[in-house]
Amino acid sequence: MSRIALVTGASRGIGASIARGLAVDGFAVGVNYARSADAADAIVADIVDGGGAAVAVQADVSDADAVAAMFATVTDALGPVSVLVNNAGITDDGLLLRMKVEQWDNVLATNLRSVYLCTKAALKPMIRARSGRVVNVSSVSGISGNAGQGNYAASKAGVIGFTRSIAKEVGSRGITVNAVAPGFIATDMTEALGEAVAEGVTNQISLGRLGRPEEVASIVRYLASDDASYITGQTIVVDGGLAL
Ligand code: NAP
Repeated sequence: MSRIALVTGASRGIGASIARGLAVDGFAVGVNYARSADAADAIVADIVDGGGAAVAVQADVSDADAVAAMFATVTDALGPVSVLVNNAGITDDGLLLRMKVEQWDNVLATNLRSVYLCTKAALKPMIRARSGRVVNVSSVSGISGNAGQGNYAASKAGVIGFTRSIAKEVGSRGITVNAVAPGFIATDMTEALGEAVAEGVTNQISLGRLGRPEEVASIVRYLASDDASYITGQTIVVDGGLAL
């Protein structure tokens, strides 16, 4: 199997950690971002300095044309993608009665339509190669639900249903499709919630602390590795015991 990975939303947070980790595991990495060009370039520079190969690629992953162009860029620069990590995601929280239709549509498009678009684009060369790995980043919100996150939880529950369905579609082609469901991980996304919310959440986490991006990346790296060859359609919860 060619060792070429594409990580969406890899300029910051969990995606950046996944991109760095896959590079350590010997993958050439496509580092996708939406707006943070400098941050994405810095990750690529680190990987290249460490002896690896990487390319930064701008694309709004909710946009079909942009996704097609992203795959063309990565394939030209590195080769056909053998590991796709659908990590890009946003929140735009609000109680349902106050949630605007734009908030619903933006979150569903960024978090779920993107997974459909990117997976569809990645599968064609994987099917030809009769091997490949897709790892989708869901959330415990998509399993347990979360007040104020109707749009986000729906998108992340959708990712889990998509993961199971596509795992069944492409299993016979040697392709695995899995998901990870993080709890509260210390990134810009959770920083935006403020200290009071973080403290309240920490009290509900069995391990008594927020997770680190590397602690999600290590599971993604495992699912992308040869060691995970007989695992498909699964959602691995990485939440320090939050959802227990
Ligand atoms: P983050 O720090 O806010 O980073 C989000 C990443 O997604 C950035 O690289 C951003 O790119 C990219 N992105 C956003 N919209 C995009 C778009 N339309 N097209 C392409 N890239 C886009 O988030 P994070 O906390 O690392 O979260 C990563 C994933 O984990 C998300 O799917 C999130 O839902 C999930 N998750 C996070 C937590 C948590 O506690 N942090 C918990 C459960 C699940 P730019 O830098 O260019 O904006």
